[in-house]
Amino acid sequence: MSWQDIKGHAEVLEKFRRAVARGRLASTFLFVGPEGVGKRTFAVKLAQALLCSEDSAQPLDPCGTCESCVQVTAGTHPDLHMVKKPKDRSFIPLELFIGDKQHRMQQGLCREIALKPYMGGRKVAVIDDADHLNVEGANCLLKTLEEPPPRSILILIGTSAERQLPTIRSRAQLIRFGPLAEADVAELLFSTGIVDDASRAREIAARSGGSLAMARRWADEELGRFHDALVRQWAAADYSAVRMAQSVNEFVAEAGKEAAARRDRLRQVVGVGLEFHRQLLRELSGADCEQAGLPGDVIRTAASNWRGDWETAAACVDRCLDALAYVDRNANLVTLVECWLDDLSAMAVTGRPLVS
Ligand SMILES: [Zn+2]
Repeated sequence: MSWQDIKGHAEVLEKFRRAVARGRLASTFLFVGPEGVGKRTFAVKLAQALLCSEDSAQPLDPCGTCESCVQVTAGTHPDLHMVKKPKDRSFIPLELFIGDKQHRMQQGLCREIALKPYMGGRKVAVIDDADHLNVEGANCLLKTLEEPPPRSILILIGTSAERQLPTIRSRAQLIRFGPLAEADVAELLFSTGIVDDASRAREIAARSGGSLAMARRWADEELGRFHDALVRQWAAADYSAVRMAQSVNEFVAEAGKEAAARRDRLRQVVGVGLEFHRQLLRELSGADCEQAGLPGDVIRTAASNWRGDWETAAACVDRCLDALAYVDRNANLVTLVECWLDDLSAMAVTGRPLVS
């Protein structure tokens, strides 16, 4: 895969190319932006470019065929170390950074990145799900951040700068990723076979908010239908929170017995609620809704039915972000759904933010 296969983010790439050309590449980066816009794919491609052993005409063009490039693609490069939050944990566990109790400081990312590169070039480490770094994990990284080993690059990937701990934020160069263009989402949906009909791909892309992750959700027909029904009830601003909670909980339970699968499904449902209220907020504050990730008519209906102002919509956005955070903290999902929907409904009915 070359850079051409990576959709969007040309400006980010240019920034990196200029830094490399000037010999001024920083050592720690924090990638932030909505989920599903390709931050991780970009990070891996960047790692490949940095580790490629061939010379290229312009900076950061990996050849794609040398041993190093092939190993990055296969996920086996000894100088590329990646960690992410395990599905069944709410934080990235300490052992991924400094090894388990029997191997403290002998294993893990902090040790790996301090070793000499096996293949001569650099060491690259990628920390995915940086939103889920806890204080202990961040403290383990502190020494690496303060004294980056020579020729090492650390990339943290999260959704927003605000969700990162100050110790991380202040020591990393912030790189923002925007939503993808609708045409790019449509092309990705079609070219990767998620959707086999180009016009349906365009239709789904139009309600994706520029996120491939969101588009995947709409592409799943069962999920799409359920999400559509939810969004229409929120738009009507007249629904029973109790009944809605019941149907959401049933839908979540249908994901199977495994807690991780249920949490995954609930994360998607809350994600749709978040996207809906974000767009409602945009519509109420007079921003253009054409690029929106939900059908424009639904959002216009929602805005005309809305009893509150944009501040109430903003409070609903916050409430959804809160709920999302709790999904990852092993909260009781049934109770979480009930409280979340009850709060949203209370704000829709009264038109006022909740007083906490
Ligand atoms: Zn190469």
